[in-house]
Amino acid sequence: MSEALLVRGGRVIDPSSGMDDQFDVLLRNGAVEAIAPSIEPAGARLIDARGCIVTPGFVDLHTHLREPGFEHKGTIASETRAALRGGFTTVCAMPNTEPPPDSATTVEALMERIAQDAAVRVLPIGCVTRGRSGRALAELGELAAAGCIALSDDGNPVADGRLMRNALHHAAALDLPLSEHCDDPALSAGGAMNEGRVSERLGLPGQPVAAEVAAIARNIALCEETGARLHIAHITTARGLSLVADAKARGMRVTCEVTPSHLFLTEDAVFGNGPASFYDTNAKVNPPLRTAADRAALLQGLNEGTIDAIATDHAPHAVQDKLCEFDQAAFGISCIETALSTVVSLALRGELDLVRAIAALTIGPVRAFSIDRRIPGAGTLAVGRAADVTLFDPAARWQVAPDTLVSKGKNTPLLGRELPGRVRAVIVRGELAYSEETVHA
Ligand SMILES: [Zn+2]
Repeated sequence: MSEALLVRGGRVIDPSSGMDDQFDVLLRNGAVEAIAPSIEPAGARLIDARGCIVTPGFVDLHTHLREPGFEHKGTIASETRAALRGGFTTVCAMPNTEPPPDSATTVEALMERIAQDAAVRVLPIGCVTRGRSGRALAELGELAAAGCIALSDDGNPVADGRLMRNALHHAAALDLPLSEHCDDPALSAGGAMNEGRVSERLGLPGQPVAAEVAAIARNIALCEETGARLHIAHITTARGLSLVADAKARGMRVTCEVTPSHLFLTEDAVFGNGPASFYDTNAKVNPPLRTAADRAALLQGLNEGTIDAIATDHAPHAVQDKLCEFDQAAFGISCIETALSTVVSLALRGELDLVRAIAALTIGPVRAFSIDRRIPGAGTLAVGRAADVTLFDPAARWQVAPDTLVSKGKNTPLLGRELPGRVRAVIVRGELAYSEETVHA
């Protein structure tokens, strides 16, 4: 049995219940025991939350842990520790590993590693196609039975429409969401960034907006035919988002996520921070950073609730993967530790509603993947349910630098920036898993 914890004097925000006020939160035996204006400690260890915001632990629908197969970029141990530092208590692990989880055997092996090494809860996402090859379906029934929370070939789209329709039929029968990297690879092939003003100026090959929009349109049409739960991973375009809004208005089971990178940055980030640093490979990500108008539409979609979740697409890379020509550099941003700070920055600027953003980090993703079936109470502070809690100080600032990031991946275009919003403590399963000078015996 873990010791009781009393989180005292913070502003408690739980969008699932509409709670937003100063409360004490008592946690015992892995569950939330009580939330009230003032609770006597009665032997509980005190966590001073004055000046902090207290929320359900964040849930990430889209994390690349890299293990097995790419341990030089990240491991289950290193990247779940990074998740913890970012305030996340549950992450869904994307399957672009080697081997990829495309059968019961590979998922079981992955679960064993997770049980040994993970610092937060990890829910595996299984492959849609065997070996993520896009040619034949993986053993989807086996993947569901082995405990996969969703299906995806992320990194790759399922390019073949007939195969995708078949996959959605199976996913519907299994009641598993299918998270799709929406891209028409014939349109985006060879593109290193968004096609437009900046790519022309830099002389880089671009990925057109139509590559994402066409894929979203196709997948919504297939979702409508099959009744499956379609989740659009990392949406980036205003036009794509309007298709999702339309599908939702028609009552379809479509959900979507946005990354903190696409909310915070535009294609201009490829220019780099200083006048001499054109071609910042750390701003190379797939799908690419888009225009200011797209970014504004994504913020609006989040504020209005069309976007269900903020998901990181945390993609750690080794230094050499980015220390090369822009064309040759790997896609991806290491951002699970900066996600909260970018959200807080946007809230302070008045671009993002903070409570909506917290909903998109907690109950939003839980509903999208039905995570509460696996972790009762996930994404909430419901009494009697899972004691996963995050405390952060929205006013505290910190410097993003290689040595302030726990992730093996230091690949972020935010290096050198000072950002507001610092995670002070994280509680997983009722245990204080991370803390920064807030704990009193
Ligand atoms: Zn993707």
